[in-house]
Amino acid sequence: MRAIVANETGGPEVLRCEERDVPAPGAGQVLVRTAATGVNFIETYQRSGIYDVPLPFTPGAEASGTVIAVGDGVTEFGEGDRITTAEASGTYAEQFVVDAAKAVRVPDDLPLDVAGALPLQGVTAHYLATSSAHPESGETVIVHAGAGGVGLLLTQLLAARGVRVLTTVSTPEKAELSLAAGASEVLGYDDFADRARELTDGDGVAVVYDGVGARTFDDSLRALRVRGELVLFGAASGPVPAFDPQRLNAAGSVTLTRPSIGHFLRTPEERAWRYTDLFDAIAAGHLDVRIGARFPLAEAAEAHTALEGRRTTGKVILEP
Ligand code: NDP
Repeated sequence: MRAIVANETGGPEVLRCEERDVPAPGAGQVLVRTAATGVNFIETYQRSGIYDVPLPFTPGAEASGTVIAVGDGVTEFGEGDRITTAEASGTYAEQFVVDAAKAVRVPDDLPLDVAGALPLQGVTAHYLATSSAHPESGETVIVHAGAGGVGLLLTQLLAARGVRVLTTVSTPEKAELSLAAGASEVLGYDDFADRARELTDGDGVAVVYDGVGARTFDDSLRALRVRGELVLFGAASGPVPAFDPQRLNAAGSVTLTRPSIGHFLRTPEERAWRYTDLFDAIAAGHLDVRIGARFPLAEAAEAHTALEGRRTTGKVILEP
């Protein structure tokens, strides 16, 4: 089978398409023929060496596809079942294995490309909206990178429950997408803290969802109301430097959390709850999963270049 392999860390060019053996499903695992692989920012951190990974390395945690073989003891799935997951490894490949417990059955009416685009950013948006913080109807929040994969989904989930969402984006096209997703105002990266304060009668916002990191962190703190919450969930512009906790006091006894998806998929019940909510919202027409770019598997390097170059909106997928 063909798979993307990084033999060293570096720029997108280290991602090469190579022939690899088809992995064998171990006990409790299923082998899946890939339909769509989700590209996520974490793979750019792994590829570039910001996050340590053993080399050689095939990126990818997210993908949808059809089960083509099952390992010992698997009773949940059989050949031909359509599944998706955010919790596999090596999904930049024509086939991949995943623990059956971490695979989720795709509803019959959901196309496999959407099913492959949804899990990682969808579950992230879901846990950010429900578990990392829980802004109430009528409260105001900021969602950075509002036209990105997580940004569009999180905006829709929050707006649906009456939260007033202010977003940041870098281009007029992205502003349009963010407004269509339910943002009430789209702000620029240079003055969002001041604008957010003006828009809240000087109070500041209840929550800032910050996946941009280095570029936005200081102003995100400044945009919060007293006892507000800063949910730092990524570093698209680079990691936030070391931080003095005293700054949380000075900002108004605010709370800082740095969550990660793995800690919000802890049990089968939690996984089922999050996916069921997402599938139901899609079926009801309340949640649109925008696939902003599709690349052939062999062009994974181009997909990374586009994502890091801020040229994408919504989800980026690879298709074998
Ligand atoms: P996006 O589709 O949001 O892409 C990143 C966006 O960030 C860009 O499109 C860009 O939007 C914005 N951005 C601002 N500054 C920069 C910069 N200097 N370089 C690149 N992009 C920049 O990506 P995802 O939705 O996949 O992920 C968003 C964030 O969420 C990432 O930081 C990711 O690591 C994090 N994440 C965290 C998870 C967790 O559990 N903690 C899980 C999933 C994602 P614009 O041009 O509008 O500024």
